[in-house]
Amino acid sequence: MPSASRDQGPGRLFVVATPIGNLEDLSSRAVEVLSSVAGIAAEDTRRTRKLLSRYSVRTPLLSYHEHNETKAARRIVDRISEGADVALVSDAGTPLVSDPGYRIVSLCVREGIEVVAVPGPAAVTAALSVAGLPPHPFYFAGFLPRKQSARRKALRSLVDLPCTTVYYESPHRVEKCLLDMLDVLGDRPAALARELTKVHEEVVRGSLSELAARAGESPLRGEMVILVAGPGREWGSGGGEPGEPEVADPGIPG
Ligand code: SAM
Repeated sequence: MPSASRDQGPGRLFVVATPIGNLEDLSSRAVEVLSSVAGIAAEDTRRTRKLLSRYSVRTPLLSYHEHNETKAARRIVDRISEGADVALVSDAGTPLVSDPGYRIVSLCVREGIEVVAVPGPAAVTAALSVAGLPPHPFYFAGFLPRKQSARRKALRSLVDLPCTTVYYESPHRVEKCLLDMLDVLGDRPAALARELTKVHEEVVRGSLSELAARAGESPLRGEMVILVAGPGREWGSGGGEPGEPEVADPGIPG
C-alpha cells in the first residue's frame, strides 16, 4: 500500500493504467493507489481530474507532458527521492504505451527508485484479445509515420515479420494507411478495432482490401487499432506456423 510520504528513504513511482474509454474500467487497486500517494503526475490534468472525481480521489496533480517531460521528470524524481510516493498516469490506458512517461520511469530506474506497475487497460491488448488473429507472437508498432514515404518504409521493414502486427492510427489517416498496408504487406487478414469499451465500439474483420474499401465507403471515426496477420496467414488458421495443422495453442505453456 503506498503512502503520502515514507518515514525513511525514497518513495516509489506507481505506474497506473487508466480506462481507454469506459470509466468503470479503473481497477480497485488503482483507486487505492491514486487515493493514497502524495501526488499524481498527469499528462492532461483536466482529463485526469474528471476520472478522479468519478472515484472521489482528491490527490494533488503534477503536470507533465511530451514537451516538458525531461524537466518534469527531474521535479517528480526529486519529490520521490525526498520520500513521497507518486503515481504516474497518462490520458488513457497504460502510460509509456504510445504515451509519455518513459523519461520519468528511466530516471527513476537510474536513480535506484522502485517502480511499481498497477496494470490495467491498453488499447493494444484489448484489440488483440478480440480481433481473432493469432495473438502470439505479436509485434506492436505503435503509430506509423504520418508521411506516406516514411510510413511505407516502416511497413516494408515489417513485411517479413512472422507474426501479427498491431498499429495505432488516427481516423484522418486510416484509409490511406490501410491502402499502404495493402500495397506493401499484401492482402492479408486484418481487423480494425475502434472505440473499444465506448458506446460506438466496433471490430471490423476482413482482408486488408475489404477494410480499405469499408474505410472508403464511410469514414471510420474515433480511436482505432489496426491489426494485420503475418505473411501466409488465412482467417481462422490458428496460432501455429502457416500451413501447420491446428493443435494446441502455441505460446501457452504446458
Ligand atoms: N496509452 C494508450 C494505451 O495504453 O493504449 C495509448 C495512447 S495513444 C496516445 C492513443 C491511441 O490509442 C489512439 O489513437 C488509438 O489508436 C488507441 N486507442 C486508445 N483508446 C482506444 C479505444 N478506446 N479504442 C481503440 N483504440 C484506442
